[in-house]
Amino acid sequence: MEQTLILLKPDALQRAIVGEIVTRFERVGLKIVAAKVIKPTQEQYYHHYETIGKMISRRGQEVFDVTLRFMQEGPVLAMVLEGIEAVSLVRKMIGTTEPKSAQPGTIRGDFSHISFSYANKFGISIPNLIHASGSEEEAKQEIAHWFEPNEIFEYSTVHDKFTQGKP
Ligand code: ADP
Repeated sequence: MEQTLILLKPDALQRAIVGEIVTRFERVGLKIVAAKVIKPTQEQYYHHYETIGKMISRRGQEVFDVTLRFMQEGPVLAMVLEGIEAVSLVRKMIGTTEPKSAQPGTIRGDFSHISFSYANKFGISIPNLIHASGSEEEAKQEIAHWFEPNEIFEYSTVHDKFTQGKP
């Protein structure tokens, strides 16, 4: 079964909408196999966003710097979610990077509305509530970066029979 990594960002915790967001993942039958609240260091975020995510070449140094600053404004909730094609499913559920263009029904589209141009005008990172792995390879690297193997659990849920065709 496929696993993906999510981080509920400082804005999600400070707005106290963690429950509403996590409920969406439970509702589609995704399984929470790891979870912890953490306050990562700049070095840990560097590894996450640049070493794994290659963010500087994709978004530029300035966006990278403001995003690292934003991510350190408070703790985040790190989770590993498991399910069928979980990586692409969770990306679909969170919506596009820019909340203004994220579809209604997605997490970013339903809980935020800031635009790229507004963020760039004020030199701020886009508080879009959640990070999710962009590919299966990225998911493997991100899970290994944020979790020890003994923090990730295997168990059955009532969904398994219906979502995974298990007896
Ligand atoms: P995603 O989180 O959708 O995978 P990226 O990996 O490209 O997107 O960017 C990481 C994070 O950096 C985004 O989620 C957002 O918080 C922030 N960000 C990206 N591009 C911009 C931008 N142009 N202006 C401000 N913040 C940005």
